[in-house]
Amino acid sequence: MTDFETLKTLEHENVMQTYGRFDLALDHGQGALVYDVDGNEYIDLTSGIGVNPLGHNHPGLVKAISDQAQKMMQASNLFYTEPMIQAAVKLNQLVGTEKVFFANSGAEANEGLIKIARKYSWDKYHDPERLTILTLKNSFHGRTIATLEATGQDKFHANFFPFTEAFEYVEANNIEDLKEKMADPKVCAILMELVQGESGVRPLDPAFVSEAAKLCAQNDILLCIDEVQTGVGRTGTFFAWQQYGIQPDLTSTAKGLGGGVPIGAVLAGPKTADVLKAGDHGTTFGGNPLATSAANVVLDEIGDEAFLKDVQRKGESFMEQIRALQSPDVLEVRGLGLMIGIEVGPEKVSDLLAKLIENGVLALKAGTGTIRLLPPLVISDDQIEKAVAVMKEVFA
Ligand code: PLP
Repeated sequence: MTDFETLKTLEHENVMQTYGRFDLALDHGQGALVYDVDGNEYIDLTSGIGVNPLGHNHPGLVKAISDQAQKMMQASNLFYTEPMIQAAVKLNQLVGTEKVFFANSGAEANEGLIKIARKYSWDKYHDPERLTILTLKNSFHGRTIATLEATGQDKFHANFFPFTEAFEYVEANNIEDLKEKMADPKVCAILMELVQGESGVRPLDPAFVSEAAKLCAQNDILLCIDEVQTGVGRTGTFFAWQQYGIQPDLTSTAKGLGGGVPIGAVLAGPKTADVLKAGDHGTTFGGNPLATSAANVVLDEIGDEAFLKDVQRKGESFMEQIRALQSPDVLEVRGLGLMIGIEVGPEKVSDLLAKLIENGVLALKAGTGTIRLLPPLVISDDQIEKAVAVMKEVFA
């Protein structure tokens, strides 16, 4: 196997330097454990940034992908394929939506969602002004040009102008600001993450979300929820919106849905299910048999009530154990299910993450001063305890 330093040099010479990588080359994994190229073991609290919900090398997932690879990996959307249709049926049955559009990533799912939202308004009102989409400050919706504009953080906007028009930002949890912006007749939709992940793992206030849902219903504004990071069991229900007691018109999801294989999806409720007509939208790889055969395994496992209850239990226990450390480094622990943020402050976050790695635990950064934990949903109680024991060593 090529050694780490050689890999690092080759990467610097050949790959665009768009990522700040940890000083580590990963090679393989098993469950919630991963191994670097030198054979060192780590507890994986990253899951490929909230992807691998069933952990690494899950036998059912590996079998489904290998079986499907031997049959057919890509057919195109010119043909019907059973894995894609099954995945759509399962998604709709699980959460009570009507129709699904398959994409290949979170940003691409959000692009589709934005198109549906605008077309819904256009078809119904024929008003070129009524196309504004509200998003929240500190949100994150992707890196394509439209989803960058939807992202309510200036730091992602710099250098990439001009953007598509008609996005406005509401301050998260500020009901007055929400009411004021929703009153604008130009607004056709609001898009939000229920737990803002990238900007620091911040769950939205239920009262704010209920108010948004109420105003949407009153004004025929589409309620759109980005479940790219929160979805597929991450927060202890299949979608986080099930805990907020709302039924969105549109939901985007991706990350965990393919268990590690790239996939994204937009799920539509009754208002929006038939907005897109033949030729309005499409993508070559969307819903391909390989990705959707993986999604079918994920949906069978994670759609199970007992599995989701266990995610809730493990998430609460994990947060409790971190709080119980009573470390002065830990300013706050927050989250939902196995989406956990440990606020440590901007000065300490990088150093603490590096020390966690040195001691065999991989974790992520979010916002400016948050350690973000997104472990595989199959992480065991024992592995959680071991990770907390490492935190006890590393935190003051
Ligand atoms: N939306 C949210 C809430 C996300 O967290 C992300 C990625 O982190 C995206 C969209 C973009 O997804 P992708 O990176 O798959 O394009």
